[in-house]
Amino acid sequence: MTSVDLHLHTTASDGRCAPDELVRRAHMAGIRVISVTDHDTRAGEAAARVAAAELQMELISGIEITAVFHGRDVHVLGYGLPPDVSEIDTILAAQRCQRIDRAREIAERLFSLGAPIDIDALMAGTAASGKAIARPQIAQCLIAAGHVLSIAEAFDRYLNDGGPAYVPHQGASPEDIVALVGKYGGIASLAHPGRLGRDELIPVLAEAGLPCIEAYHSSHDAETTDRYRCLARRYGLTVTGGSDFHGDGTRYAELFGVVGLPADEFAAFKERLDAARGASVESLRFLATKVPEKKTLF
Ligand code: AMP
Ligand code: MN
Ligand code: MN
Ligand code: MN
Repeated sequence: MTSVDLHLHTTASDGRCAPDELVRRAHMAGIRVISVTDHDTRAGEAAARVAAAELQMELISGIEITAVFHGRDVHVLGYGLPPDVSEIDTILAAQRCQRIDRAREIAERLFSLGAPIDIDALMAGTAASGKAIARPQIAQCLIAAGHVLSIAEAFDRYLNDGGPAYVPHQGASPEDIVALVGKYGGIASLAHPGRLGRDELIPVLAEAGLPCIEAYHSSHDAETTDRYRCLARRYGLTVTGGSDFHGDGTRYAELFGVVGLPADEFAAFKERLDAARGASVESLRFLATKVPEKKTLF
């Protein structure tokens, strides 16, 4: 059992629970500290924050940003970002637009493959709501259209990386996302490194200032978790963890309330988060004092 889950999805991206429902479910599962980490959007956070406050739970601001490294997606979790940072909001809005274009391209491929879906129904109102479209929602359309019986079948037959309907993401490098999150006082964590399977990236990103790594994740067995806890120590990274729950009937759903970050490692994470925030306030102050000096030079 866990009381800290720092990796959760809502209907703002490919999760099945509305934000307030997710928070209530988490509370019932014994979780007391959560982070809603939707793909490329923070649209679920405000409602989750209200629900968490009602239940006296701690909510840490979160997001899962899609970066791209040599054509492969690298998911970077960002924690503790302040709300309404225009640079971040602009980048995320562009990522969501690109997700809409990509979903249309996937739908075209599915049409050519003899598996047409109702993409317009999926798109209705997404841009305005801040909702992010990801492949599980397309998988749901494939089920609704009667082409497949399950999400797993949709991925296996059409949507997996390199599959016949797969369209890659475009996006910033993981280094740039790590820097962006740090610039505004947040801390980035390399998501589910076991699933990613690119351990050679860890020293590169650590060198580029990556503060955390997600050692605890539903896709990691005990041995994998230990490996990333060791790598975290070697490269001076702080450990994060969460279930990556997407709702009932989805992958890893049975590990909701089970997989998460142990309390002592959560305490270390909080210290790192506070330190990052303090350092960012300092650097913004430093920049503020530098601006007039610069102006006098020109
Ligand atoms: P996207 O951001 O559109 O590339 O979609 C990525 C999301 O698809 C991940 O966050 C998972 O939630 C989901 N996903 C990826 N592979 C699978 C799979 N084989 N089975 C079920 N869900 C998957
Ligand atoms: Mn997902
Ligand atoms: Mn992910
Ligand atoms: Mn996730």
